[in-house]
Amino acid sequence: MDLLNTLLEIQDLDLRKSEIEKQSASIPEQKKAIVATLKKDKLAYEALNTQQKEAEKLCKDLTHDTDKLRQQKAKIMIQSGETKDNSTYTKLIKEAESYDARVDDMESQFLEQLDKVEDIKKQKKDIAGQLKSMISKIEQDIKDLDLRHKNLVATLPETEAKRNELAKLVDEETLIHYDKVFQSKGGLRAVIVPITHDDSCGFCHLKLSAKDIASAAKGLGECLECGAFLHK
Ligand SMILES: [Zn+2]
Repeated sequence: MDLLNTLLEIQDLDLRKSEIEKQSASIPEQKKAIVATLKKDKLAYEALNTQQKEAEKLCKDLTHDTDKLRQQKAKIMIQSGETKDNSTYTKLIKEAESYDARVDDMESQFLEQLDKVEDIKKQKKDIAGQLKSMISKIEQDIKDLDLRHKNLVATLPETEAKRNELAKLVDEETLIHYDKVFQSKGGLRAVIVPITHDDSCGFCHLKLSAKDIASAAKGLGECLECGAFLHK
């Protein structure tokens, strides 16, 4: 195998290694993003809980107030039964009747709140169902992510071993130079690139001089602009 092909294979292995490292590093963020999707539904559920508590308290208060009004009315009715004075009797009966409208009003308010509680319970049930299916999906997603990570990392030693074998075939100076260029470009892009069909550098896309092209034609050239290795 000639130098160019050996270096290209080394580069392939280096890119694979970089990709594995990049993916590994992104896993915690990916997990966070998955878990964050739950937050909205959880918040909605908590808001409904608060609304339910408020509506239930209002129901309780209304029941209490309605009972009080009924008791007050009953007292007035007793007073009216005891009075001998006709005008007082009429006045008391009228007063007692005025309680009816207030009791009716409170009762309809009570029913309204009761409907609201039922509605909230239904909404909560829907969200709880959504949360349940989301949680099981999330657990699966995280499991998949961990497995993918494990599989990727498991290929690293083989990649490194292969790389070490190939590196023995390349002279030290070239290898050090290649490593330096590869790392300087971020370690995620190929730095041994072909000259494009319009005689530009495959890395920086600048037009190459005839001298650059001639040196690449012999095997391995170099782009004087960006430092990438060039081949035909
Ligand atoms: Zn270039």
